Amino acid sequence: MRPLGDAQRDVLAAMPLLPAAEVPLGEALGLATAAAVRAAHDVPPFTNSAMDGYAVLAADVAGAPVELEVLEDVPAGSVATRPIGPGTAIKIMTGAPLPEGADAVVKVEDTEPGEGRVRILAAHPAGTAVRPAGGDVAAGQAVLGAGVRLGAAHLGMLASFGVARPLVRRRPVVAVMSTGDEVLAVDEPLPPGKIHDSNRPMLVALLGELGADVVDMGIVRDEPGTLRAALEGAAGKADAVVSSGGVSMGEYDLVKAVLRELGHVEFWQVAMQPAKPFAFGQVAGTPLFGLPGNPVSSVVAFEQFVRPGLLTMMGATAVFRPQVDGVMDEAVSTAEEKTVFVRVQVEWRDGAWHARPSGGQSSNVLSALAAAGAYAVVPVGTGEVPAGGAVALEMFRWPEARSAVEVLG
Ligand code: AMP
Ligand code: MG
Repeated sequence: MRPLGDAQRDVLAAMPLLPAAEVPLGEALGLATAAAVRAAHDVPPFTNSAMDGYAVLAADVAGAPVELEVLEDVPAGSVATRPIGPGTAIKIMTGAPLPEGADAVVKVEDTEPGEGRVRILAAHPAGTAVRPAGGDVAAGQAVLGAGVRLGAAHLGMLASFGVARPLVRRRPVVAVMSTGDEVLAVDEPLPPGKIHDSNRPMLVALLGELGADVVDMGIVRDEPGTLRAALEGAAGKADAVVSSGGVSMGEYDLVKAVLRELGHVEFWQVAMQPAKPFAFGQVAGTPLFGLPGNPVSSVVAFEQFVRPGLLTMMGATAVFRPQVDGVMDEAVSTAEEKTVFVRVQVEWRDGAWHARPSGGQSSNVLSALAAAGAYAVVPVGTGEVPAGGAVALEMFRWPEARSAVEVLG
């Protein structure tokens, strides 16, 4: 058996980097920057008011209360037509450029407006309610590194610099197929001996979360010609191929024979549970991930190999899910020679993340995966985690089932 870390290292090292491309801002969510982004100009681009009020000279209002002449009104989006001088003020709205000569803004609550005049009720030192140009980001400053997956706030920041087409690694196209004579599509009736294809919907969903464009190749029969055609077709139109089933030790595992014939594919026994059998290699130069058929195994193998692999292709610097320190509330006994991913439900309680198995731990028990929020990662050589024992929790669904009543009372 291969240690999990070795297998992951080999997979990541084999991943090609997708080309960089400028894409419309609205299509860049989840993609990684291909180069550092520098600010094209100051943010804010000009010194402006943080309040609705009156732009003044701080020296004029030092002896408040004082009365000043109001020269004009400057709403947001407009610019004052003249500078202010001693004894004068300009009415200003939040975000409007500070008029020349002014060095403070007195908020409207500290004033009493009159006809063409304003009474300032309190002294305000220079800089009050003024947002200086470049105060958030100075022109030329690196605002994002390379390899950052763009989130909503990143998109907003890029928009503030007028970056309509950020340079990112393009979206991967990933072909997905299920294999097996026993597997039928979800909308087909089940004759005896057949089961519905539960892997494909899960893998398609996981790929969607990553931002991949999915080519759904459907279900492929355990027949060499069909399988060969499907794999070659998939490799021809995708950046990566993900298949499930047919990589274990069983004698009907035609997938193995066909893969061996088509490209450089290796069959590993990874020291992990679930998902010990796993195939990885290239078909016609395209990376292929051959996941085991059991539903939980296919998802765990996806999480440990496909997800970090595709994120590497996408140029992301962070490719593994976060792990937090947790406490097992129930003892678990695991295979000592493997890294075991125990499906657990998690709860934040008394200042710690608490975990307990979310159901049966066989690799076909999807209900336990559906009820889980994390994998408790039990390293090789551990075997037994006692109740109250420390464990690393790899979080894939942070609990957010807090009702309005719970939060708001
Ligand atoms: P295999 O890896 O092909 O030997 O399959 C292992 C187990 O997973 C068998 O019980 C299969 O019936 C089951 N299986 C394979 N593919 C799927 C699938 N797409 N959906 C649900 N179960 C599957
Ligand atoms: Mg099979």
